[in-house]
Amino acid sequence: MDYQDHIKCTVSDCHYNVEKKYCKAPAIEVNVDNGQMTAGRAQATMCKTYKSS
Ligand code: SF4
Repeated sequence: MDYQDHIKCTVSDCHYNVEKKYCKAPAIEVNVDNGQMTAGRAQATMCKTYKSS
């Protein structure tokens, strides 16, 4: 599977981002913002694999 098919991401200043559309990282880790195990809404989640470009 090509990376363009499985992870869409618009975080343009991430090292792994391609064209403000896709993630090229081989794997990503996503956690809840506040360290808890439940988010309740998408906005409360964040990508821990983010790397400043
Ligand atoms: S590592 Fe996370 S923030 Fe960076 S492009 Fe991939 S999904 Fe987006």
